Amino acid sequence: MTRPVHIVLVYQSLLGIYGDRGNATVLMKRLQWRGFEPRLTVAEPGQPLPDDADIYLLGGGEDGAQTTAVRLLSQEGTLHRAAERGAVVFAVCAGYQILGTTFTIGEREEVMPGLGLLDITTRRGDVRAVGEILTRLRPLPGDVTPLSGDDALVTGFENHGGMTTLGPDASPLADVEIGIGNGDGSATEGAIQGSVVGTYPHGPILARNPGLADFLLETALRTRLDPLPVVPIPGLRRERVAAIRQGARG
Ligand code: GLN
Repeated sequence: MTRPVHIVLVYQSLLGIYGDRGNATVLMKRLQWRGFEPRLTVAEPGQPLPDDADIYLLGGGEDGAQTTAVRLLSQEGTLHRAAERGAVVFAVCAGYQILGTTFTIGEREEVMPGLGLLDITTRRGDVRAVGEILTRLRPLPGDVTPLSGDDALVTGFENHGGMTTLGPDASPLADVEIGIGNGDGSATEGAIQGSVVGTYPHGPILARNPGLADFLLETALRTRLDPLPVVPIPGLRRERVAAIRQGARG
């Protein structure tokens, strides 16, 4: 018998323009295929986020939308409580930036307070990072069987003006092979701190990188999951990696 698993998609109307809701679909499917009974809540501004979820997902969005989102999320506090109790908070791009201590918006680099769940700061870069990105996941904290070889490669599409620097409490999620990623000169991508994970690539990233999806599920459920061979995925991943290496970034 398996326990129910609750996933919350946070503020789809604010942080939903890059298709990152596909990350919820992927997690739901990978749980169902293993016999779990996942439940999805799409939470919108104005409603409190459920306090009992196993996984909270945030996506990308424009500067204005992310500013509204961070204001509402800091007022209502669910993500802080979630991180404290070890629930997974997984955020992409604008979602990633607002989990940090500060980020800046607009030409005038107005400094906005973030949620402080990741020890990162984000400032505007000289150029916008746009294009396919290829990274290699580092061994992830607590992962007893880290992904290796081609399984550790992550592909996605980045589109951000903010560049992110990690403080000592956050660890990079991956090293950049092609693309910009955090863009602070460290050649790293994303950040992880306890059960809170942020990253730049869209895709959605969990569809393109099932190893990362299963790492999040194992962290949330605090258990090892059996491998889940899905026949077309390795071939599609090889194609994507080859396309990026051959210059799909343009
Ligand atoms: N507005 C942020 C930036 O440009 C995030 C963009 C996004 O979510 N793709 O850095």
